[in-house]
Amino acid sequence: MSADPVLPYRGRFAPSPTGPLHAGSLVAALASWLDARVHGGTWIVRIEDVDTPRCVPGADEIILRQLATCGLVSDEPVVWQSNRSTLYQAALDRLIATDAVYPCACSRKDIEAALNAAGLARERHHAAVYPGTCRPERGGLHGREARAWRFEVKPGVLRWSDRRLGPQSQDVAAEVGDFVLRRADGLWAYQLAVVVDDAEQGITQIVRGEDLIDNTPRQWLLQQALGLQAPGCLHTPLVMGDNGEKLSKQNGAQALDLTDPLAALNQAAVHLGLPAATGSLPDALAQWVNAWPWRNLVPV
Ligand code: GLU
Repeated sequence: MSADPVLPYRGRFAPSPTGPLHAGSLVAALASWLDARVHGGTWIVRIEDVDTPRCVPGADEIILRQLATCGLVSDEPVVWQSNRSTLYQAALDRLIATDAVYPCACSRKDIEAALNAAGLARERHHAAVYPGTCRPERGGLHGREARAWRFEVKPGVLRWSDRRLGPQSQDVAAEVGDFVLRRADGLWAYQLAVVVDDAEQGITQIVRGEDLIDNTPRQWLLQQALGLQAPGCLHTPLVMGDNGEKLSKQNGAQALDLTDPLAALNQAAVHLGLPAATGSLPDALAQWVNAWPWRNLVPV
């Protein structure tokens, strides 16, 4: 799993508009922007609004304004995933044509029941590993109506290297199982949308929060199945709240206070191990570009 370091650098920041940016999301935004600048690359903002029930109307515009206040402006027109269903459908069609995916009729309850019957009760808060009930070799839909499309994961451990965190591995079949690409409610799953968009936008490096690192192997499997180049990756340190959990919109993180954008950016920069900067915003950004530690695109 490695990117081609010879390709011109293209990076992105891909917020879900479930609320305004918070201190944690600014770390990922700043890191992705700095990494693109250090490598003379292009930085693109993509609004990941496929999970419509979780999106908050107007949050996309707030996020774009917050970024602009911090001097972080997309080098190309901003892309909204909600306009890109045709691309996701075309990718799913290709996966259907190569039998990489199968339709699934199981509800969450069916999955729980199958896991319990197999003595595989799952830990609380952990997503269930799909027991494979609708896999083609197990008889498919068993006469039930298809609800979702799942990607069939072959056994084996995937190894890759993160530019900040070094060697990583995951047994996707054992730890995640066959994952959903099109949900029972008809919505596109994050995994498919992100892989299709990263490829279509020519993204060569992914810089995002460490909470997303366990998605990397699933995305790599999809890239393989679709014949796409896998971007390199660098996952940034998470910002923890007072309760010891990572800051997220779900657990009520405060929107960024941007009355003093340099103060907010300094906080994000220091979290990334960069020195606090003074002067104008452009000066501060330039100082961090110079100090950026992850210059090597080929992970060791
Ligand atoms: N939309 C995702 C989020 O806001 C980020 C996806 C990504 O960077 O791959 O958590």
